[in-house]
Amino acid sequence: MKWMELTAEDFEEARREAEGVAMLPIGSLERHGPHLPVGCDTFAIQRVADLVEAVEPVVVLPALPYTHVAVCVFHPGAIHIRQNALIEFVTCICDEVYRNGFEKIVLLHGHGGNIPLNSSILAHTLEARKPYALYSINIGSEEETRVRREIMESKTFGHAGEGETSCMLHIAPGLVKAERIRGRVFEPSPALDVAPAQTPVDWIARWPEMAVGEPELGTAEKGRRLIEAHVEAAVRAIRKIKKDTVVLEHLRRRGAMRL
Ligand SMILES: [Zn+2]
Repeated sequence: MKWMELTAEDFEEARREAEGVAMLPIGSLERHGPHLPVGCDTFAIQRVADLVEAVEPVVVLPALPYTHVAVCVFHPGAIHIRQNALIEFVTCICDEVYRNGFEKIVLLHGHGGNIPLNSSILAHTLEARKPYALYSINIGSEEETRVRREIMESKTFGHAGEGETSCMLHIAPGLVKAERIRGRVFEPSPALDVAPAQTPVDWIARWPEMAVGEPELGTAEKGRRLIEAHVEAAVRAIRKIKKDTVVLEHLRRRGAMRL
């Protein structure tokens, strides 16, 4: 059940069928090496969400392409939303989803850069005493790790590398500019070394082209396996989320606000 495709009359039944669970996929708009579209994460996570919904009833919102991509704004095509605005914006969406009767909201992340931000959003709903339960599914599940070990040939796995290139070859091969990565291996740059200190540009200084390893080793078949692993992990989580009563009990004990 896709939120955008339901009529107003359909919502009550959709909510019942989904047992009150709605899901917001979150992608990004940022450089993905010289060969993948900036919407790579958004295409991939929308596909994952649609496949999840085909297996386990849940109402899927349209994927959010706008998120936190501060490290790479100097690369064309990036759209960065400031952290405070993004937390507020995602919270507004969740408030509205709740107003439509969904008590459990799942954020399905397709962008690694959201990992630090994600804990801020979860903490914010607690501080703001929201009456709905927010759950978050990040990339890097045990299903993905297992499949990655089975199929990956690159020494280094990461952004716009063998994995993401495979996913795009599976989802939208026409958007992959394969000629730009022929014979190329993306190695980390040693330019920044202040370890053990951290800096806000650690990742981008290490991977200035925003591509990691050997994307040329990507294949559509590997992409299918990776996307399926992500789907399997999300379905497993959603089945548990449907049974979960602990999160809402905690929120009620804290005196959740009425919206
Ligand atoms: Zn990506």
